[in-house]
Amino acid sequence: MPWEPIDKRPDADAVAPNLDDYDRVRASFEWEDARAALGLAPGGPVNIAHAAVDRHVNAGRGDRLALRWLGRAGEVRDFTYADLARESARFARLLTDLGVRRGDVVFSLLGRVPELYLAVLGTLKMGAVYSPLFSAFGPEPVRSRMEIGGARVLVTTRTFYERKVAPWRDALPGLEHVLLTDAEGDPPPGTRDLHALLADTPADVETAETGAEDLALLHFTSGTTGKPKGAMHVHEAVVAHHATGRFALDLHEGDIFWCTADPGWVTGTSYGIVSPLTVGCTMIVDQAEFDAERWYATLQDQKVTVWYTAPTAIRMLMKIGGELPARFDLSRLRFLASVGEPLNPEAVVWSNRVFGRPFHDNWWQTETGGIMIANYASATVKPGSMGRPLPGIEAAVVERRDDGTVALLDTPMAVGELALKRGWPSMFRGYLNQQARYEKAFAGIWYLTEDLVQRDGDGYFWFVGRADDMIKSAGHLIGPFEVESALMEHEAVAEAGVIGVPDERMGEAVKAFVALKPGFEDTETLRRDLLAHARKRLGPAVAPREIAVRPGLPKTRSGKIMRRLLKARELGLPEGDTSTLEENGR
Ligand code: ATP
Ligand code: MG
Repeated sequence: MPWEPIDKRPDADAVAPNLDDYDRVRASFEWEDARAALGLAPGGPVNIAHAAVDRHVNAGRGDRLALRWLGRAGEVRDFTYADLARESARFARLLTDLGVRRGDVVFSLLGRVPELYLAVLGTLKMGAVYSPLFSAFGPEPVRSRMEIGGARVLVTTRTFYERKVAPWRDALPGLEHVLLTDAEGDPPPGTRDLHALLADTPADVETAETGAEDLALLHFTSGTTGKPKGAMHVHEAVVAHHATGRFALDLHEGDIFWCTADPGWVTGTSYGIVSPLTVGCTMIVDQAEFDAERWYATLQDQKVTVWYTAPTAIRMLMKIGGELPARFDLSRLRFLASVGEPLNPEAVVWSNRVFGRPFHDNWWQTETGGIMIANYASATVKPGSMGRPLPGIEAAVVERRDDGTVALLDTPMAVGELALKRGWPSMFRGYLNQQARYEKAFAGIWYLTEDLVQRDGDGYFWFVGRADDMIKSAGHLIGPFEVESALMEHEAVAEAGVIGVPDERMGEAVKAFVALKPGFEDTETLRRDLLAHARKRLGPAVAPREIAVRPGLPKTRSGKIMRRLLKARELGLPEGDTSTLEENGR
C-alpha cells in the first residue's frame, strides 16, 4: 500500500519526541521539562482541562478542530478547541450553581456521546473529581461503584437511568443530582434535563486553580483478576498524559487521532480525551461499536493518522481477513498502537502485511495512569514485545522477598515481576477505601505491577503473564501468552486463552481454549493438528495437553480474556466478580 508522510504542523511544545536515539533522549529527559512544555510553573497550579483545551484557546489555536463526533446513524458534529473550552465552562458553571464543590465526585454513565466530553472537561475545570462507568454495566456494578466513590452527581441517559439507577436510587441519598442528556423537557422524577439547565447557564467560570496533588480522576480497574479497584489520579497526571502521548503514540499537533477505547475505562480518558487534546490533535469519536467495515471506512474518510486500539479488536479484524482493508485507502495512517493485553506477534506480522506498518504494542495499567513501556515510532518494533520504558520511567524485573523487599533480577530474560520506580506524574495516589491494599503495592521505591515479564539484552520487555495466570507444570513456569501466541499462528485460530488445570503428575497441565475463524470446524482432526502445531512450536513441556473449542472466550468489557473465568468454569468453582464481563461471555 502506498504511503506518503503527512504534513506535520510546527510543533510548538514538542518534548523531544524523536527517539532514534533512545538512550540519549532518556538520559536528557526530565519531568520538569514536560511540565514546562504545558506552560506549568514548578509548584504552581495545574488543571487537566486547562492544559487540554483552554491553553490552546489562549494561544490563539481556538479555531482548530478538537473533536469530530460520528453518530451511529451517520451524523457528524464538530467541536473546535474554542467550542470545547466554552461548553465545558458552561458545564463547570452548572455544577458550581448546583452547589457541587471541589473534590466532589461526578460520575458519567454514557456511551460515546458529545455530552460525555463536555462533562469530563467541565468537571475537571471546576475542580470536582470525574469517574466514568461503562455504559454496559448492569444496575449492581453501577450502584457499587457509585457507592464506593461517594457519587454526588451522575450524568446519564433516560434509559440508563431507568434501567440501571432508578431501581436502587433510594439507597444512595448522597447522589444529589442526576442529569439526563436526553430528557427532552420531560425528566423522570429525581432527575433533571441537562440541556435545559445548560441553556440557562452562562459559559463563564473561573478554572479552578487545582494543585498538582488534587484529586482529578477515579478509574476502576478492569476486574480481570478479581473485584475492580478504584484507582485515584491527580491533576499532575496531565504531564504524563501529554508526554507519553508524544513518546508512545507519536502524537503531533495536527494529527488526526482515533482511540477506539470505551470511555468507561482509563484508556478512554487518558488517551481518548486528555492526551490528544493537550497535544493539539483532532480526536475522532465514533459512537458505534466495533464493525470492521465501518472502522476501515472511518480510518479512510477521516484521514486518521494515528490509531490506538486493542488486541481484541485487532484479532477481530484479522479474523475477517486482509481483503476488506485492501478496498480502502489507508495511506494516511502513520502510526498504529495497541494496548490492553499482550499483542500476539502474529498481529504485528499481519499489520505489516495489510497496512504496510506494524502495530506498536505498549503496556500500562489503570494504576499507572499512562503508558509506561512502548515500542517507539522511530525504533525497531520487536513483534511480541511490549517495548522499552518511556523517558522518565524506570522499570525493573524483580522478585519479591519474604521480608517485603525486592531483589532486582538483572540477567537478561530472567522471569520476574515488572516493577516501576515510583514518582511519575500519573501514578495512582491510592485505591479508594483500600489503603492497606495500596501500601502493599509498593516495596520501597518500587511499585509492583503483578505482571510477570522478561527483559532482553536490548532492554525490551516481554510480557509473560499476570502473576495470577501463571501455570506451574512439572517444574516449569509457563506464561499463558507464549502458548496463546503460538496457537494464534495457526490459520484456524481467531483467539486463544490458556490456563493451568490440576494434574496429579505435573502439578498443573496446560489447557487451551480457542475460538475458530470462519470456515473452520471443531473436529477431532483439527484439534489434533492444533496440538501438533503447538508441540512443534513450544516443545512438549510447554504445549497444551488438551484443546477445547469455544464459540468465543469470556472477556472483560475492555476486551481482556478472563482466564480466571475459564479456570473457574473448568474446575466448577465460583465465578467471583463478573461485573465487567462482556454480555456474550456469560
Ligand atoms: P484488575 O486489576 O481489576 O484485575 P486489569 O488489571 O485487567 O484488572 P487494567 O488496569 O485495565 O485492569 O489492565 C491492566 C493490565 O492489562 C496490565 O496489568 C496487564 O496485565 C494487561 N496489559 C495491558 N497492556 C498490556 C500489554 N501491552 N501487554 C500485556 N499486558 C497488558
Ligand atoms: Mg490490574
